[in-house]
Amino acid sequence: MIASPAARRPWHPTTLLLVLSLGLATLGNLPLWNALWNLPEVHGPQAIATLGALVLVVAAATMALLGLLLWPRWLKPAGPVLLAVTAASSYFMASYGIVIDPSMLTNVVQTDTREALDLLAWPLLVTLALGALLPGVWWWRQRLRPVGRVRLLAQQLGAVLAALLVAAALLWLTFQDVASLMRNHKTLRYMINPFNTVYAVGRVAVGRNAHAGKPLQPVGTDAQFAGTPAAADTAPLIVLVVGETARAANFGLGDYERDTTPRLAQLRAAGDMVYFSQVSSCGTNTQTSVPCMFSPLGRQGYLDADGPYENLLDVLQRAGLAVLWLDNQSGCKGVCERVPALETRALEHPTLCPDGQCLDEVMLRQLPEALATLEPERRARATVVVMHQMGSHGPAYYKRSPATLKRFQPECTSHALQECPMEHIRNAYDNSLRYTDHFLAETVQWLQAQKRPTALVYVSDHGESLGEKGLYLHGMPYAMAPTEQTHVPMLVWLSKAMQGERSQALDCLRRQAGAQLSHDVLFPTMLDLAGVRTTALQPERNLLAACPARPAAG
Ligand SMILES: [Zn+2]
Repeated sequence: MIASPAARRPWHPTTLLLVLSLGLATLGNLPLWNALWNLPEVHGPQAIATLGALVLVVAAATMALLGLLLWPRWLKPAGPVLLAVTAASSYFMASYGIVIDPSMLTNVVQTDTREALDLLAWPLLVTLALGALLPGVWWWRQRLRPVGRVRLLAQQLGAVLAALLVAAALLWLTFQDVASLMRNHKTLRYMINPFNTVYAVGRVAVGRNAHAGKPLQPVGTDAQFAGTPAAADTAPLIVLVVGETARAANFGLGDYERDTTPRLAQLRAAGDMVYFSQVSSCGTNTQTSVPCMFSPLGRQGYLDADGPYENLLDVLQRAGLAVLWLDNQSGCKGVCERVPALETRALEHPTLCPDGQCLDEVMLRQLPEALATLEPERRARATVVVMHQMGSHGPAYYKRSPATLKRFQPECTSHALQECPMEHIRNAYDNSLRYTDHFLAETVQWLQAQKRPTALVYVSDHGESLGEKGLYLHGMPYAMAPTEQTHVPMLVWLSKAMQGERSQALDCLRRQAGAQLSHDVLFPTMLDLAGVRTTALQPERNLLAACPARPAAG
């Protein structure tokens, strides 16, 4: 017989808190315990004792944290929230091998609903039902015993203190083993529910406030166009394509066994393109990499900066060039704030935008019209257009290529990647790269038809894990990210007319094709390619620094 809630004595608030803490520490941390259990060094009685102690440490620490934060008024509503957050984060950790850290959280916050829907899958809903809804209903039905304020304060703080003592004692007893586990497996610390989320929320909130209100630091205030202004339709046009989630390991122009870039390979064979095979990304997610690659500071400087700085596009615009950002993804992450920008989602192109998401070619269709809206005096110097791709954005890779380019079959069409065989995931991902190959080649073809010097620069924002080491998607903390997430494709194509402007530039770029490079090269190289002179241009990172200078202006 099921006892009605009235039949049970109401809970002391602190006791109910202890129940919640035990639940979160055990069931709410299954991915963590599972990961620890599967570590090669965790075997034998001593390791099992350490693991048991760790469960108790997490329970005691959770009790201490919640005891300080949750007083009776907050207790009831906080329970279901904590359960839902814990269930969702457990699901993503267990399914995709991701961990919850500040940059992952920022990434989630910045993701738009269209992309978030890609992550929704039945297993997630089942996890939420079992991990949050069921216990949440139980939680809501419990009654709390009224306890005097002073008494509750004393009792709950007493419980917090006791929990801290238990945690400290257990850690002291197992310190050697726990310390070496945490040192050797740094990702574990980002797997402890709910501390990972609480920490990430705190860091993101503090980070936002720290940057908010700080003045924008100007960059390249002396920037000038070094060339001779021509006419609006004959001056150079440079297209920078910011790729999404393309990893170098699967790029045909590298040494991948499959031909994922047949059309780019033709362009390279024609002698007008250089592929850079050893480029590392600034971050492992869009939110970090995109602003960082446009930053004048380089990776380390960008991560250390304590306030906002102007970026590449601001400097190009200051030098009098026309600048345009076309976006087929979740926005420019602040990079295009001060330049003309256009989002493609509103276009609702009948064939290129099925079910609300557009294939990247929609940007190319939009390009001529969008260019015509830029100021002619600026276009007479040069134009730089950024096209921000949807690229290989996961987990719905199969949505990133049209039927005509689906060369590799069968594709994984589940949003829960871990349910697909790795080979099917790879097929869908490789087809998305074939589409990027098609998109870039179409862009080059369009540029070739222009009666002006033109160039295409392409670089991906970060890579992707496709199930290697049990990892999926991207966004691992950089220091522990696998190469698949940080090794990205980059290429430069120059039209014959552009090569004429800058003799032997391709030969000189080709000499650096195998060099260890990073996103840091983008800022100075783009400025130099666009003909902008400024003291902010760091020659040591400029790929064109070694190339013969363009003929002096006027
Ligand atoms: Zn990205």
